Amino acid sequence: MAFDTDVLVIGSGPTGATTALALATYGVDVHIISRTNWLADTPRAHITNQRAMEVLRDLGVEDEVLKYATPWDQMGDTVFMTSLAGEEIARMRCWGTGERRHGDYVFGSPCSLLDMPQPLMEPILFKNAAQRGAKFSFNTEYCSHLQDDSGVTVQLKDTLSGREFSMRAKYLVGADGARSKVFDDLGLPLEGQMARAGTFYVLFKADLSRYVSHRPSILQWVVNPSASFGEIGMGLLRAIMPWTEWIAGWGFDIAKGEPEVSDELALQQIRTLVGDPKLDVEIVRKSVWYVNQAHAPHFAKGRVFCGGDAVHRHPPSSGLGSNTCMQDAFNLAWKLAFVVKGAAGAGLLDSYSPERAPVGKQVVQRANQSRLDYAPIKACFRVEGAENPIAAGLARLREAGPEGHAARLALQAALEFKDTEFNAQGVEMNQRYVSGAVIADPGGADEVWHRDQQLYLQETTRPGAKIPHAWLVDRRGLRVSTLDVTGKGKFSLVTGLAGEAWRVAAGRLGRDYLRLIVTGEGDTLDPYFEWQRKREVHEAGAVLVRPDGYVAWRAVEPVYDAVEAERLLTAALDRILDRA
Ligand SMILES: Cc1cc2nc3c(=O)[nH]c(=O)nc-3n(C[C@H](O)[C@H](O)[C@H](O)COP(=O)(O)OP(=O)(O)OC[C@H]3O[C@@H](n4cnc5c(N)ncnc54)[C@H](O)[C@@H]3O)c2cc1C
Repeated sequence: MAFDTDVLVIGSGPTGATTALALATYGVDVHIISRTNWLADTPRAHITNQRAMEVLRDLGVEDEVLKYATPWDQMGDTVFMTSLAGEEIARMRCWGTGERRHGDYVFGSPCSLLDMPQPLMEPILFKNAAQRGAKFSFNTEYCSHLQDDSGVTVQLKDTLSGREFSMRAKYLVGADGARSKVFDDLGLPLEGQMARAGTFYVLFKADLSRYVSHRPSILQWVVNPSASFGEIGMGLLRAIMPWTEWIAGWGFDIAKGEPEVSDELALQQIRTLVGDPKLDVEIVRKSVWYVNQAHAPHFAKGRVFCGGDAVHRHPPSSGLGSNTCMQDAFNLAWKLAFVVKGAAGAGLLDSYSPERAPVGKQVVQRANQSRLDYAPIKACFRVEGAENPIAAGLARLREAGPEGHAARLALQAALEFKDTEFNAQGVEMNQRYVSGAVIADPGGADEVWHRDQQLYLQETTRPGAKIPHAWLVDRRGLRVSTLDVTGKGKFSLVTGLAGEAWRVAAGRLGRDYLRLIVTGEGDTLDPYFEWQRKREVHEAGAVLVRPDGYVAWRAVEPVYDAVEAERLLTAALDRILDRA
């Protein structure tokens, strides 16, 4: 049966849209469907971390995202307060903006973090994917699929006309979110628990600049009895569009069912959290979301691959959702492209699940733990058993005596503990892949972590790690990152001026998906010796970087014989690409 498309993607959220964008960029025929009429209409994901930004940079949309986002320096401190207009209790330096951590962040990536609500991010992914040739069908529902040896037949429904039809694709990607039917239909296990807690959100418009212009912050926690339920036990005021569009949020007891919140009650709650009883507010939307703690140990079966919330379901704490979705997509897309174009055997696709499922498990655990880790902060703000626990807790924090001193020390420690959510560059960047698409150093010992693995990025060229960012300089004198000269849908073999044998070997191999990078010459000069410092291999060694920026294999020791270099490189590529 003829194919309607090479890859059919179900869902146009961050996972589906990034998959489509990457596949279209790589020149693969991709068709994406969504049952809704348009893209995200609620501002869910917003904090976009450096790794996701690196993905967007590679896909050529970083500048466009920067244009619409709240920039890194405006993301500000996370502030704890009795209300936006009320007493400020504590502040935290967050997202690497504090002096103590900023250097780590800029040293580790050419990209900044930024704040970009999903309804602004998705159209950028969508528009660029469509411009590059991806086909989109909205109002189209996935119903079921059947796979065989050569492809997948997918049953779909046009939700406007009710017409049912089928499409045939070589591969199917289930990017259909936390209630994924594609994943359910695969019959794969999901471990954990769905809906273990609930949060109520109100999206509203109000000009709050007078309360925040002197302390820009996209995230404020309000310590107030009106929002003291649940693990976090504080009300949330999150800026969507600084400083005129906001979300107010608070936990609710799921044992009592979904709360009925009238506009009047929502208005009252917003005014309480802001601390302005007369605040002019336009309520845009009310919604609830549930705290999930579930991950899939396997992301794929045969020709069907799932990614994003379909396979890792967790709360927004740590801001790992859409960021992880984009990285799933980026991991999968180049593999699909190589297989569809015949540059790799189908076995390459077997590496997707072993590489991304452990990341899914890690982010589910981290995001849920980040909620639990509010407990010590909450305890500092309350005196249990007091007539008014919060008033008593806050009074204790102001007290001059030993109890006050102890409370202040405890709060400092509790806030520092939250670095694993708010300054966790390691959580965001330290993924390590183990799979058939990575060849470990022969006899290589386990990696030794020199600093806290969650807080600090550890750069390395060990196979399975992301290539370190180092500033090189091109022939015009402009700085380019090692990430800029690698990626873009191709493998890169990175060597130094002494690596002549690798130059000859790459030339002889003549594979169009492989580019040679010789640092120290042309557009990849290394005048800061940053790459020399970070590369961990001899100058006449080599690092083979995959299209997604991960190191596939390296030759640590020098190789001066071109025949030997060709033998090593051929063996590595053939193994990674399942061409043996
Ligand atoms: C309150 C909140 C705050 C968040 N904050 C952050 C944050 O700061 N940073 C972060 O990284 N993440 C955050 N997230 C998480 C982020 O929103 C999700 O991880 C992300 O949207 C998941 O993307 P996805 O593409 O996997 O699925 P979704 O975005 O859920 O998209 C699913 C897609 O599938 C389509 N679909 C579903 N079923 C079908 C079907 N049967 N047929 C056809 N189409 C279908 C839908 O129409 C949609 O297009 C937050 C989430 C919430 C709820």
